[in-house]
Order: sequence, then structure tokens, then C-alpha cells
Amino acid sequence: MNLTSPSQVKSWCIENGFHPNRTLGQNFLIDRNVLDAIIAAAGVCKGQRVLEIGPGLGVLTEALLEVGASVVAVEKDSRLASRLAEALGNPEKLTMIQADALELDLDELLRDPESDEAGFDACISNLPYSVGTRILLDYARHALAPNRFIVLVQAEVADRFVAGPDDEARGQAGVWLQLDYQVKRIREVKASCFWPRPEIASTVVRLDRTPSSLTVEEHRWFERLTREAFMHRRKQLGAIFRKAPPPIIHSDEVLAVLFAKAGVQAHARPEKLSNDEWQNLARAFCKGI
Ligand code: SAM
Repeated sequence: MNLTSPSQVKSWCIENGFHPNRTLGQNFLIDRNVLDAIIAAAGVCKGQRVLEIGPGLGVLTEALLEVGASVVAVEKDSRLASRLAEALGNPEKLTMIQADALELDLDELLRDPESDEAGFDACISNLPYSVGTRILLDYARHALAPNRFIVLVQAEVADRFVAGPDDEARGQAGVWLQLDYQVKRIREVKASCFWPRPEIASTVVRLDRTPSSLTVEEHRWFERLTREAFMHRRKQLGAIFRKAPPPIIHSDEVLAVLFAKAGVQAHARPEKLSNDEWQNLARAFCKGI
């Protein structure tokens, strides 16, 4: 079957009594140009190991195998997982895992058992809408994450991933991803490039790992402070941390010293801070006065 032929994809579904499941975000990519752009942006070469979340009918999987990558694909829908194993059956190059990507043991999945290091060169995925952000945050923030992610997400989700300080879309997800990755919008993808057609457009986003220099303990502070701050994004940081649960809470005097050490204004709002400023704040709180 030609997976970028809408009529062939629809016929396969009708012939096999398969009804795409909205809850699982089953909007299949049916556009050759977008497929080519994703593969080009991924820069995957022969012999590289790629993780794919939600292969669906296998449009990306097939293209990745064609360029000579070996692919581990995690698909929640058992019918799609078995169809793919049958259609692309190549035990040396394709490993199908029928599972919920959010329930897998990532230490095991992402580790190369031979070297004990990261097992994948890249993760490429047209992420399911409802759980896409959760999947990306879980996988990209893992210590054994691949160095490169190419993901297709809803346009507004992509806006959050790439948003810089002062941007309306700036939030916890973007700040967390930008801590360890350079996050770049690659191209917009119209809703008509999927079947069934979703209500909104999507965007291809590329993430390249540039690990921060935070220590493990500073990293905990980074997550603690940003999580608390973005729960109250309209408030000023000083006011947020003054009322935050321990160990964030401090007297006004101590907070003033910590903000000064970090070079951050206590009256700034969470979305105004750059990632460097968040890191400075994490270091200052971690060290204390
Ligand atoms: N890669 C295919 C494509 O581009 O046409 C399908 C992408 S579709 C947007 C999302 C896929 O993720 C579906 O095949 C769906 O069954 C699968 N999926 C949804 N939730 C999942 C989860 N929690 N874990 C693994 N796969 C999931």
C-alpha cells in the first residue's frame, strides 16, 4: 500500500473494518512532501538507530527503513502494531513494541544494553495529540534520551515548545525542553495533509540536545521553581515564592538576596525569564544564602 495515497489508506481501512480512533490521535500523515521534509530534517543515515512513537500505518517507519535506519517502534493500538510487523516484517531492522509509550520502563527502552549508554541516535514521531506533550517531556528529559527529536505536533503545541521570554505561549513545557535542547520550528503542516483530517494545523519541530550545566540538585531546583511559577503565571515571582510550599518558601529578606544573586527581578512574571535566568535562579536557591 502507498501510505501517502489517501485513497489507498482509506480503502485499506474500509476493507479491514478499521476505524481511526480519535482518542488515540489516529490522524495519519498522507502527504509525500511533508514526509520527505521530516526525513530530511531528521538527517538519519544508514545504520542509525531510531525510536518512533506511534508508527500507526507506518508511513514514517517505512521511510526510515528505506534510508537504512534500524527502527524500534512503540504502538499502543494492537491492530496497527500487528499490521506493521506483518507489512514491514524485517526482524533485523524493525522491532515492534505493542505498548503505551507512557507506561514503558524508559531506563530499559532508551539504554543500549551493550554500552549502557543512550541506545538511539534519534526519536522521530508524529505524536498522538492528547498525550504528545507528556510523551515528549518524559522521553526528552530522560538521561538516556537521544540527541535529536523530530516531532510533528499541533501548531499551538509547537508554539509553546519554541516560545522565548516575553512570548504569550511561554510556559513550563517550553522552558523545560529548552533547558537541554535547541528547539526549532521546521515547517507548518496543513490539516489536509492528514487523514482523517484534524481540526487544526500541525508543525514539525526539531530538538537538538545541548545539555545544561546544572548539577542534579540544581536541576531539581529548576524543576521545582518553574513548576511552582507556571502554576501562577500571572503573578510576580517574589509573590509566588513567598507563598510557595517548602523548601521554596523564604522570608522576604532571604528571597531578596537570592533574587539579587541570580540577577533576576522579584517583580518579573514567570514567562518573562530567559532559560539562563531560570538556571541562575535554580543555582541561587540550591546554594542558599
Ligand atoms: N506515525 C503515523 C503517521 O504519521 O501517520 C501515525 C501517527 S498518529 C498521529 C499517532 C499514533 O500514535 C497512532 O498510531 C496511535 O495509535 C498511536 N498512539 C496513541 N497513543 C499512544 C501511546 N500512548 N503510546 C504509543 N502509541 C500511541
